[in-house]
Amino acid sequence: MSQHASSRSPRVGFVSLGCPKALVDSERILTQLRVEGYDLVQTYDDADVVVVNTCGFIDSAVAESLDAIGEALAENGKVIVTGCLGKRADVIREAHPDVLAITGPQDYASVMQAVHTALPPAHDPFVDLVPRRAASAVDDGIGIKLTPKHYAYLKISEGCNHRCSFCIIPSMRGDLVSRPIDDVLREAEKLAMGGVKELLVVSQDTSAYGVDLRYAERTWRGSAYETRMKSLCEGLSQLGLWTRLHYVYPYPHVDDVIPLMADGKVLPYLDIPFQHASPRILKLMKRPGAVDRTLERIRNWRAMCPELTIRSTFIVGFPGETDEEFEALLDFLDEAQLDRVGAFAYSPVEGATANALPDPVPEDVKQERLARFMARQAEISALRLEAKVGTVQRCLVDAVDGDLAIARSRADAPEIDGTVQVQNGLMAGLKPGDFVDVEILGSDEHDLYGEALIEEMAG
Ligand code: SF4
Repeated sequence: MSQHASSRSPRVGFVSLGCPKALVDSERILTQLRVEGYDLVQTYDDADVVVVNTCGFIDSAVAESLDAIGEALAENGKVIVTGCLGKRADVIREAHPDVLAITGPQDYASVMQAVHTALPPAHDPFVDLVPRRAASAVDDGIGIKLTPKHYAYLKISEGCNHRCSFCIIPSMRGDLVSRPIDDVLREAEKLAMGGVKELLVVSQDTSAYGVDLRYAERTWRGSAYETRMKSLCEGLSQLGLWTRLHYVYPYPHVDDVIPLMADGKVLPYLDIPFQHASPRILKLMKRPGAVDRTLERIRNWRAMCPELTIRSTFIVGFPGETDEEFEALLDFLDEAQLDRVGAFAYSPVEGATANALPDPVPEDVKQERLARFMARQAEISALRLEAKVGTVQRCLVDAVDGDLAIARSRADAPEIDGTVQVQNGLMAGLKPGDFVDVEILGSDEHDLYGEALIEEMAG
């Protein structure tokens, strides 16, 4: 690995793994690197040093992270590790003793220090005359977006106050720390001014937002807002963007945001990781929220906002899950009629308390349950999509591919949900970031197909 020549800016390669929350961390580190005059490069060969932002949530993510570190070491040789797996430095050191430095999640200052040590920033008279944004560079949202320009993740808090037995995030990221609401709204405002059309609100537990700050009141645009989920939705609705809520738990106060969805102030979309439907398993999982009246609450939400899309995730084969409890989970799917569902076969995470639970479910049974679960939900999702054929859906264009525009309706979050394929996208002159009304002509298990109503099109 050659030291960078003094005639050019130092170059950093960046590998970002993990969930949308890790993506937000990556964006912040990249922002700071750019502020300090580092060039960001796409290949190992071009990089003077490589930063790998890792995930450590489940064992397969740990393996993927270790592989990525190994690849960066083999291809480049100078590697700094950050992110969730950074909390488990021993695991990294054992597999890859040659990494230059290891830092944990959200520890932006330590990552930057490691980069400075490995690769001092270039003296640039122009950059150096510009006052450093320092801490504000990680707060103000003017940043390098890893997501396409028209949507952005908005991280409202770090950490989590719960202790779900299968999860080690609180031990890695600590208890909930919310960002004050004016700070979040200012970031959202800047993103909107930069051309973002859709904000994806992320955290470990969006419904708990502000509890650590005792819902502190702040002022934004001359009005008072409390640091809590409902006020956040009200503030964001002032920006006229699509706002999508992720990682919401079924607390009673979630009911308060449903009317805002019915009024079109935030997208009628809830991403609620239910994880299971059996009260006994949920108790073993130590899940937050009112788990006993879930079906009733879903019915009430849909009565208040019939257009509501509900996405969820589930774990099958949790230790002790009986055949009856699994069947009850399938019954729940039939009754709840969720729109989008992701599922995982339970996999132990090193350090999680669930590992000590008795009666692990054999691997073949877990896999068989997962396949049955997915097949049952696939039928439900397909029918729910089919019901949209003949309707007109407001969509946001993500990409244009040949004649097609690949768009998403209000019911589709990027990366995790389906798409709306607009057959006449090219002809309609659509571009990424355009809103368009699409007449839905067909559907399958995941996606919708349709045609842009050209006269309705808006930029
Ligand atoms: S709510 Fe549970 S699963 Fe989610 S981060 Fe907190 S402890 Fe982990």
